[in-house]
Amino acid sequence: MTTTPTVPREFRRSGVFSTSGLLGLWFILAPQVLDRENGLMAEASAGEIFVDMTYALDFNTPVFPGEPPFCFDVQNRIGDPDLPLYFGRLEMMEHTGTHIDAPAHVVVGGATVDRLPLQQLVGPGVVIDCVAECADNPDYQVPDQAILRFEAEHRPLGPSDVVMFRTGWDRFYSDPERYIHAGDRWAWPGVSVSAAELLAQRGVRGIGLDTIGLDAGCIATELRAHRAMLSSGAFIVENVANLALLPPIVDEILALPINVRNGSGGPSRVFARIASPGAANEM
Ligand SMILES: [Zn+2]
Repeated sequence: MTTTPTVPREFRRSGVFSTSGLLGLWFILAPQVLDRENGLMAEASAGEIFVDMTYALDFNTPVFPGEPPFCFDVQNRIGDPDLPLYFGRLEMMEHTGTHIDAPAHVVVGGATVDRLPLQQLVGPGVVIDCVAECADNPDYQVPDQAILRFEAEHRPLGPSDVVMFRTGWDRFYSDPERYIHAGDRWAWPGVSVSAAELLAQRGVRGIGLDTIGLDAGCIATELRAHRAMLSSGAFIVENVANLALLPPIVDEILALPINVRNGSGGPSRVFARIASPGAANEM
């Protein structure tokens, strides 16, 4: 790399880019890294980068047929002379947008979202790329072999890991009909029950992907991968954003759900921390 990377001004003061050509390259490969229309997706400061893996909730957030849409109702505006305050009211299903499924979602006696230990909500992250396999196959179910292959190429997975699957289906997120359906049936890629069982054996803290459901749309109502994962005590994150911005090995992924007493899950801020320029060497 001989040319100087074009780095958004917000990142220049960090000094990260002058010390690591590779990290600069990472940003070039991710040209959508700073998107003013849709909000900041990545932030850099000295020695670390944060990537937001969370969609901003709005009226266009995909929901299952029959479910109410996300609603943010502004109740008062800052320009109100009587009460110069800005605030609103939220209304949504627990499982709308980027969210966690707690074990109680499908497991009798499983932990509800308020009982997930904080330690479980953060861990070393990995991103398993299945984009090519899912490209023309909305019914694709990531097999356990994909995990074994990843382990052979990178590192074994273990009990503290948070494992993300990138299917590429997020390219349809802004088109909710396409994101969920093929014709009149549900269709999106998912994770097979054998893969979920293998990750449960590994004892991972959580699993996530860039579709609306862990089980592929064509068999979503069977919930078999959900059961395999959640009965191990792990959490699931669905509708994950920006996996394309992450290398295969990530220092930390944090998945922080709203704290609702006895909730089955809930909207979550999910993000990755890449601690040092060295992390980019994994790419
Ligand atoms: Zn869910």
